[in-house]
Amino acid sequence: MEFETVIGLEVHVQLNTKTKMFCSCATSFGDPPNSHTCPVCLALPGALPAPNREAFAKAARFGYAIGAIVHKISVFDRKNYFYPDLPKGYQISQLHHPIVETGSLMIDFDDGTQKRIGITRAHLEEDAGKNIHDGAISRVDLNRAGTPLLEIVSEPDMRSADEAVRFLKKLHSIARYLDISDANMQEGSFRCDANVSIRPKGDLKLYPRVEIKNLNSFKFIQKAIDYEVARQIESWQEGAYEKEARQETRLYDSARNETRPMRGKEESADYRYFPDPDLTPVELDEAMLENAKKLPELPDEKRARYIKDWALSAYDAGVITSDLELVAYFEALMRRKISPKTAAAWLTTELLGRLNKAQKTICQSPINPETLGGLIERIEDGTISAKAGKEALDYLFENGGEIDAAIEKLGLAQVSDDETIISAIDAVLSANAANLERYKNGETKLFGFFVGQVMKQSGGKANPIKTNELLKGRIG
Ligand code: ADP
Ligand code: MG
Ligand code: ZN
Repeated sequence: MEFETVIGLEVHVQLNTKTKMFCSCATSFGDPPNSHTCPVCLALPGALPAPNREAFAKAARFGYAIGAIVHKISVFDRKNYFYPDLPKGYQISQLHHPIVETGSLMIDFDDGTQKRIGITRAHLEEDAGKNIHDGAISRVDLNRAGTPLLEIVSEPDMRSADEAVRFLKKLHSIARYLDISDANMQEGSFRCDANVSIRPKGDLKLYPRVEIKNLNSFKFIQKAIDYEVARQIESWQEGAYEKEARQETRLYDSARNETRPMRGKEESADYRYFPDPDLTPVELDEAMLENAKKLPELPDEKRARYIKDWALSAYDAGVITSDLELVAYFEALMRRKISPKTAAAWLTTELLGRLNKAQKTICQSPINPETLGGLIERIEDGTISAKAGKEALDYLFENGGEIDAAIEKLGLAQVSDDETIISAIDAVLSANAANLERYKNGETKLFGFFVGQVMKQSGGKANPIKTNELLKGRIG
């Protein structure tokens, strides 16, 4: 039987507000444990929450960016459960009246096509603290307790792990473009739960799903979903699917590359949701909503503009616009008079290739836009060949420095003066008299052979355009 994968994602985005969701403690990361706490986020008796206006503004901005409804009035509920990192014994969230409902975003495929993925809702809530386990001792750090989260829930519209990753990457870049989150995955500011089920291809019904919790890298998300799909197909083939894969929560173990059950539906917590009596429904004012509607240029628009104005391929435009740092880098390159297509290729293929290999990000690139731009200029003005450009890039990547000095040091400059090239041509022609005879008798395809020999004679440095010209002049 052929199966189809069905995936819906729940993404937690930590909003980059200055202060927490319901108190004025700072949201900074990496400070000494419990240095950003107060009676509200410590849940001391009598402390009352006060909603953070900035968090609403950011949630509203996100809502408009995905073409959703932004509700003027939203309501906070208590989600009750017990865990050491949750001092109140409940999390403040929005169950029935979220701030954002029914939007969508487009995911991009490498060939330039797109697919729309529905976004059911996005609601505001507070994060829990962090348990730190150290041998036999566990400690609790409440610096993160109460930081604002936007939980974004997708429709079950994705059909493969690849689509799920593309959705997350798009969401990630939208969050960065809107400046609503630093979306740092290592620090947990952008993490997701993946809901995964399978069904016979062609079937429209939704089958019981498994929820894989807390995935915080694109690579792990891909692997966890792939593992889970294979597991579910096997379970189906053994006739155990409905029974085993009943709405279950699993954790992904990256060391073993497998998912393991956390809890089944029977044991799953009853959160006893009810409206938080400490918080009245929040009503947003018109001025704030109007302001939130002023959106910056978003990834889709920027990508379309790059394709239209600079004739970039959909793939290159997609790679560059997915990341604001790459956008800044590319736009710095574009301040020179170089071909946008060539610049995009050198950035996405040559530089990013080397950075990936060295496990570095564009921010850690040893080559800045000045240097790469200079290198491309030297190729375009014929000083060096594209091949020599790659050699120069390797050298600069390792040693730093400036392009003209590197060309000099590595002896990469092309030979363009007529005299040197003509004397190489003469040497080649007299050493290959027989081939020259055949060429003259009509074997015109030998022209390429002569070009190759001249290049060889010049140690690969003869300017190929010049060589072609001069050879044409010589043998017609
Ligand atoms: P809950 O609140 O219990 O987590 P929801 O109905 O809000 O449940 O769904 C949570 C997520 O699960 C959503 O992203 C939704 O798209 C996804 N989902 C629901 N049913 C399925 C299914 N059968 N297969 C895959 N994903 C699903
Ligand atoms: Mg869920
Ligand atoms: Zn506080």
